[in-house]
Amino acid sequence: MEKNIFQRIMDREIPSSIVFENESYIAIKDINPQAPVHFLVIPKAFSTRLDEITDPLELGKLYAVAVQVARAHLTDYMLVTNVGAGAGQTVFHTHIHILGGWDTPPKVLGAH
Ligand code: 5GP
Repeated sequence: MEKNIFQRIMDREIPSSIVFENESYIAIKDINPQAPVHFLVIPKAFSTRLDEITDPLELGKLYAVAVQVARAHLTDYMLVTNVGAGAGQTVFHTHIHILGGWDTPPKVLGAH
């Protein structure tokens, strides 16, 4: 099977700006940022989309890493995951977007 872009980044075949890495996760700057701060938190264990991770402990660990990375750079932030092409997912290796750093937050959901 052809490697996805995040696997190639993890294998250092493609350069990226790494903001965090341990044996199970990597966090990188998004190449096409949608906010002043835009990181991607990627589990090294392969799954195509978030809902393929059925172990609650694994889901919890992924979110714990995302929060840890976010809090190292931001006070307020969004965690966003596109699950499936119909929701805008374009890279089919599970990842969480960390977005933040605005003066005025974008209106995404809810009342403002
Ligand atoms: P998705 O659309 O699947 O939720 O998010 C995929 C994200 O990966 C997009 O925000 C896109 O900009 C980012 N991305 C795609 N290719 C690369 C790349 O080669 N390097 C980095 N750093 N980000 C990438």
